[in-house]
Amino acid sequence: MAQKDNILIIGAGLCGSLLALRLAQRGYQITLVEKRPDLRKVTQDAGRSINLALSDRGLKGLRLAGVEEEAKKLCIPMNGRMIHDKEGNTFLSPYSGREGEYINSISRPGLNMLLLDAIDKMPNVTTYFNLGCEEVDLENASTSFKNYETGKTETYSGDILIGTDGAGSAVRRNMFEHKKFLFSFSQQWLTHGYKELEIPAGEDGGFKTYKNALHIWPRGEDMLIALPNLDGSFTVTLFLPYANSDYCFDNLITAEKVEEYFKKEFPDALELIPNLAEEYFNNPTGPLGTIKCSPWHCYGKSLLMGDAAHAIVPFYGQGMNASFEDVVVFDEVLEKFEGNWEQVFSEYEKARKIDTDAIADLAVDNFHEMKEHTASPLFQQKRKLEIAFETQLPKEYFSKYSLVTFNEAIPYSLAMKRGRAQDKAILNLLDDGKLKDDMSLEEKLQLVIKETNDILHDD
Ligand code: FAD
Repeated sequence: MAQKDNILIIGAGLCGSLLALRLAQRGYQITLVEKRPDLRKVTQDAGRSINLALSDRGLKGLRLAGVEEEAKKLCIPMNGRMIHDKEGNTFLSPYSGREGEYINSISRPGLNMLLLDAIDKMPNVTTYFNLGCEEVDLENASTSFKNYETGKTETYSGDILIGTDGAGSAVRRNMFEHKKFLFSFSQQWLTHGYKELEIPAGEDGGFKTYKNALHIWPRGEDMLIALPNLDGSFTVTLFLPYANSDYCFDNLITAEKVEEYFKKEFPDALELIPNLAEEYFNNPTGPLGTIKCSPWHCYGKSLLMGDAAHAIVPFYGQGMNASFEDVVVFDEVLEKFEGNWEQVFSEYEKARKIDTDAIADLAVDNFHEMKEHTASPLFQQKRKLEIAFETQLPKEYFSKYSLVTFNEAIPYSLAMKRGRAQDKAILNLLDDGKLKDDMSLEEKLQLVIKETNDILHDD
């Protein structure tokens, strides 16, 4: 059998590692190059989303590469959102009324290490660390890297190259600056940034608050969330405006002010975070933005995938999941058009961009839903009804959250269209008092379906 092409993959994060593994399984010769040191040998910086919500689309990608079961060993199921009010009262809002529909908290470095270990077992992958991509010859799939250990420049090339170098992609910057074809690019920042904190494990190594939920403290303009880790701790993320608010990153500049803010807004969380001020001032504040660009490929030689092609805000917990789904879609397209990279790249973008644009928009919607609406009575009434539909009529109703998170057979773009119409339908019907108490659940569902179809028809 003829030797398959050489593929240069730039960025060994979550997407690049899974992609390298899958393409190696397909028999390609892979050169995988990563800017940072090998995270299995060097502890990486804290303060960068230590754990992530992994759900069905991501699991499908891991399954394709045969590592799903290993990854599941790193997972903590989260069955719903545990909402915390200002008085410290809590209630659990399930993610779904169906059995077995939950999301998982997983360690980012743990998952990345698992993928790198699987790659190490493949004889046709060579991995390099400490090499940062700088200049890319897009027409010839060749790249110069700065070696951070020696300070020297090294060049690697392949028959094609794929940039999986994340939201700040150097490969994408090279496409932007190339000027030989029209490259569209947009970057939209939220006015909010994020900062990570920690609820440590209890003295007995146990969890200090309920383990199997994604905890949320929604406060209108700002929000705190916490996801569990296997060691009994929780990674806490504060989402806060940078400026123009009573409490914002620009004016939370003393330990007293930070304590005052937490005491007022998140008193029960404050009790669980012993090193609040220290962590607040030591951990970086990260920006949150959406990046869209097109085309994702050029010359049948260079392609962008994962966050490099479509970075999104984290509020649907789908950035990694979408990047893993990229690998699934790419694999399907490759199966059909293998041998013609130009066609593979353009068919892949044609199949995929509509869906990554959709999840980008849904993630921004969910930002508002999580910080403002999860605490509102109308929203809670809607969720209660949806959970009742999903529990008692599980084959007939799927909420927007379920369509996006638990139905990987439905593309994001369709999940968005149907889900948004359903949301509007239920909120309209509740607001108009049309879902009467004496109606059966079936009758209520029929009304919701009719209203949804009317909305879809009008759009
Ligand atoms: P990355 O994981 O960023 O990997 C890019 C890799 O490229 C890195 O290893 C980097 O070091 C390397 N690199 C960068 N530049 C260069 C260069 N010049 N040369 C060589 N290598 C380079 N997603 C979810 O699905 N669920 C969640 O719950 C979730 N929570 C999140 C919370 C926060 C606060 C944030 C910011 C994101 C979250 N995400 C979540 C999104 C998720 O982190 C990303 O979508 C995912 O990491 C994308 O994978 P990637 O491989 O494309 O990029």
